[in-house]
Amino acid sequence: MRPTGPVHLGHYHGVLKNWVKLQHEYECFFFVADWHALTTKYQSPDKILPATWDLVIDWLAAGVNPGSANLFIQSRVPEQAELHLLLSMITPLSWLERAPAYKEYLDQHRDGDNASFGVLGYPLLQTADVLAYRAGLVPVGADQAPHVELAREISRRFNHLYGTEQDFASNAEAAVRKLGKKTGKLYSELRLAFTRYGDADALATAQALIREQGSLTLADKERLLGYLEGDSVAILPEPHAVLSASAAKMPGLDGRKMSNAYGNIIPLRAEPDDVARSLRNMPTDPKRVRLSDPGNPDDCPVWQFHLVFTPENEQVAVSEKCRSAGWGCIECKQCVVDRIVTEQAPVRERAKHFEENQDLVHSIVAEGTEKARDAARATLEEVRDAMGLAYR
Ligand code: SF4
Repeated sequence: MRPTGPVHLGHYHGVLKNWVKLQHEYECFFFVADWHALTTKYQSPDKILPATWDLVIDWLAAGVNPGSANLFIQSRVPEQAELHLLLSMITPLSWLERAPAYKEYLDQHRDGDNASFGVLGYPLLQTADVLAYRAGLVPVGADQAPHVELAREISRRFNHLYGTEQDFASNAEAAVRKLGKKTGKLYSELRLAFTRYGDADALATAQALIREQGSLTLADKERLLGYLEGDSVAILPEPHAVLSASAAKMPGLDGRKMSNAYGNIIPLRAEPDDVARSLRNMPTDPKRVRLSDPGNPDDCPVWQFHLVFTPENEQVAVSEKCRSAGWGCIECKQCVVDRIVTEQAPVRERAKHFEENQDLVHSIVAEGTEKARDAARATLEEVRDAMGLAYR
């Protein structure tokens, strides 16, 4: 997540709640993408450092637990930058030029700023962010899914260039036998389910199965990971996107998508009075001019907040009161303000604890950074070896 402003309610529902869930299901690496922030905010670097610590406090307040997940800062892991550089040698320029985010940037800056190399290389840096940890799954919104697809293409290209091995198939089969009868059979069934029927869950299960085999050598693990998807050693396994399941899109105070870039956010840690003021000023269904006019929730951004914060079994009543002019917009907004403030209360309390204990926040990040560096160092050793740079 880029440190470009406070976490807002849209992030909280679309991203952080998902992280909190994922941290109990997988080994997770969550980092503040300060290099990525520089791609578009390079003229205001003074904002990055305070925004970084604030972001970590927002995560902790939202329930991301350093006992379950590694929290760190991107620029504290120089191995990611090295991997970015090395991958840039094998990535065709055209792959980066066709990335949707780059095209969008060019569209939005037709008469101003020229794109820097950092903007063009943004998805490649994202690829390095993922592959440095040999991540199996990447939680992203639908707009970022093409970047995970690019990471897959680059890892495939890397493995094809540097992971070919004579007698690969027989070496892989020998590695399957080393798994033992039961696990080897399970691996083969999962591999078949993926290669024959494209079952992505089977692939993810097989990858997890291989990663947890403590007795296998690293070379055999890479063989078996590669054997799941192709015919070369998976030095950099292909990652997969996990799309966030947030059904409702949270609108900003002006009705557009909530975004720091639009300045229309409600921060996760906003004071209750500010939440109330923000909601009071939000536009509603423009056709509802008088109290006696029936409204249409589908044309009102406030309704999107009800979809997120009001319990499902009460949403029908809210909608009906709007459609029948059974209540005014002020009352309807107050109802959602109360829900938001109630949900924020424990988050704000946890945030206060971390705001008052900045040393604790710094040590959480230092510990997460060490673990992240260990994982990235191990990957880079393999990558340097494969690319002929293993000076010892
Ligand atoms: S009653 Fe609520 S949902 Fe209906 S227009 Fe007013 S604020 Fe929007």
